[in-house]
Amino acid sequence: MEGNYYVCTGCGLLCDDIEVELEKDSVSKVYTACRVGVAHMKEGSREAVSQVDGKPAEEASAIEKAAEILKNAKNPLIFGLGTSTNEAQKKALELAKKLNATLDDTSSFCLGPVVEALLQEKFNTCTLDDVRHKGDVMVFWGADPSDSHPRHLSKFSYFPRGEQKQKGWEEERTAIAIDVRKSHTAKICGSNFFQIPPGGDTEFINALIDGVSGKLPKTSYKFPPKRLLELANMLKGAKFGTIFMGLGLLYSLDDLDPIIRLVEVLNEKAKGEFHLIPMVGHYNMRGFNENLFAETGYVNCVKFENGEAKHGPEYSTVEALKAKAVDAALIIGSDPLASLPHSIVKNLLDIPIISIDPCETLTSRKAKVHFSTAVTGVECGGSATRMDGVEVKFDPILETKRPTDEEILTKIMEAL
Ligand code: SF4
Repeated sequence: MEGNYYVCTGCGLLCDDIEVELEKDSVSKVYTACRVGVAHMKEGSREAVSQVDGKPAEEASAIEKAAEILKNAKNPLIFGLGTSTNEAQKKALELAKKLNATLDDTSSFCLGPVVEALLQEKFNTCTLDDVRHKGDVMVFWGADPSDSHPRHLSKFSYFPRGEQKQKGWEEERTAIAIDVRKSHTAKICGSNFFQIPPGGDTEFINALIDGVSGKLPKTSYKFPPKRLLELANMLKGAKFGTIFMGLGLLYSLDDLDPIIRLVEVLNEKAKGEFHLIPMVGHYNMRGFNENLFAETGYVNCVKFENGEAKHGPEYSTVEALKAKAVDAALIIGSDPLASLPHSIVKNLLDIPIISIDPCETLTSRKAKVHFSTAVTGVECGGSATRMDGVEVKFDPILETKRPTDEEILTKIMEAL
């Protein structure tokens, strides 16, 4: 793209058409971004602060303390990284190997299983650019991009003109929402909103497969068969259809088999192709999954032992903390103390925490050692993997004295 465009790292869309104005070494105006992106791009330009025991400390002594904690730990946990660059993630992977650490990210309790199935090629997928250029039917299932990824519909999936979709949404695109509540996205979908009861997704999928296969669709909660057949016909008529799978759908399923089967059946019965894209939230969660997968064959929940990766639910952050199996934690760009249930993360308070984060969080405040790092995409560049698997490179907008996640991880490695 020509011109002075920047990439927004506010969510998994990594919008690459952002313009900014600077005033006194900070971002004063942001153009093209959504409200989330504007707030995100205006972050930054604070002083570099390292802390040990809640008190300001020289970076070198904070590095020394962090290395000492990790050296003394028998099973340290490295967690987070969904908001770090690919470069920082690869450095953390090296560190985890060196320390025989447990390595995990938020995907172990959100969309990790879907990204894993995708990397194992268990379903057909595509890029967001394909959807913009060719998409005619899009299904937002248990997802509300209008709130979670505010430019999803306008930049990629519904409103834009594409190479093969010159007439746009008014004539050539059909947006469908399937959800337990009338979300903002569902309102945009109008009469193509299908409201199902909580936990009703598996039955709905099975009924839809019946409808698509020419059988009478039935659910125990008596969803009107006529409406189900209407939906089945819309999906069957698609030339380039995509299901955008959100957490609402994932949390309602026992396993992914029904949704994988639906995509298969649609590819057999629909006019054209059908795809599935997971609605990854953090701007580089998919990058973490892909980097770890390339190295170990797993997307999360890994424990290293003499260079070998062991994998299983017991190595997820939640289970490892519940079992008190870890004895130090290096948390990068994440705030588990605020976001996970207290009954689980209270065990974090019993072990030394090292926090690497551009923001002050509950976790950083409770950390033994804290490094305040540069905001990626604003104060430092690098690369990340968009929610659809496309690698995006970005430059910093501002200069900062704050180190990057990668620099701190490198220095900790060197000090070990
Ligand atoms: S949609 Fe996401 S990536 Fe795009 S501007 Fe908004 S927050 Fe940034």
